[in-house]
Amino acid sequence: MGKIIVIANQKGGVGKTTSTICIGSSFVKLGKKVLLIDLDPQGNSTIALGFNNEKITKTVYSALTEKVNLIKTVKKTVMDNLYICPSNITLSYFNEENFDHGEKEFILRNQIQELSDNYDYIIIDTPPSNGLITKNALTCANSVIIPLQCEGFAMEAITNILALIVKIKNNKNPNLEIGGFLFTMYDANDPFCVSIGNEIKTVFANQVFPIVIPRNNSIPESQYKGIPTILFRPNSIGAQAYLQVAKMILEKDKSN
Ligand code: ADP
Ligand code: MG
Repeated sequence: MGKIIVIANQKGGVGKTTSTICIGSSFVKLGKKVLLIDLDPQGNSTIALGFNNEKITKTVYSALTEKVNLIKTVKKTVMDNLYICPSNITLSYFNEENFDHGEKEFILRNQIQELSDNYDYIIIDTPPSNGLITKNALTCANSVIIPLQCEGFAMEAITNILALIVKIKNNKNPNLEIGGFLFTMYDANDPFCVSIGNEIKTVFANQVFPIVIPRNNSIPESQYKGIPTILFRPNSIGAQAYLQVAKMILEKDKSN
């Protein structure tokens, strides 16, 4: 069974989508077969991999509402061995009010089971909210990686996501682990960014990835082109930083 990693943070614009694509494509570069699941109604992961998501009819939403099996939504991407379950704005209709049964957090977990054997890793991109979509993601995951931008509200974001993780761990998924906090768009020349980063490291010491992701234009540029950065600008500092993160995750998983 493939390992399922969720990328989550209630805050928008912190690098969830970027981390999903860059870690996923780096795993592929390192020889793994990877499925990304775009669980954000904005569909940014889908778009950043070159799809016109408005035209796609079989999406994650069709699977979560049990109209098709998730396996039927899988699409090949421009990178061999990198696949995606795409999403678009229809996913915004998937919310708590539509369900009155107690299993509503388990819908994705039930759907993902039949395809997890086909991949080494499944990485799930989530929306900037702690609603039913993110709960579904955390309920089926083995671990969660939290991208953080070292700015004023970073600690608040951590408090929010940790509260949700504890709740899901206690009630739905006891196996859920914290894969780590990942500093994104990090600017070593900005004293404020550095001081927030240090503050977080003081509290969460060994849960913070020792590699930071610097701000690097190759990342938005490759997303605009619809090609993973590791293919479009393989030697860029952004692609290389994510590759190091991916290597660390694989090494840790091998030793467990
Ligand atoms: P989220 O999914 O949390 O909303 P995104 O991954 O979409 O965040 O990132 C927000 C914006 O920042 C996007 O335009 C993305 O291209 C850009 N971005 C993310 N990481 C970097 C980086 N390391 N360097 C430069 N721009 C980045
Ligand atoms: Mg996003």
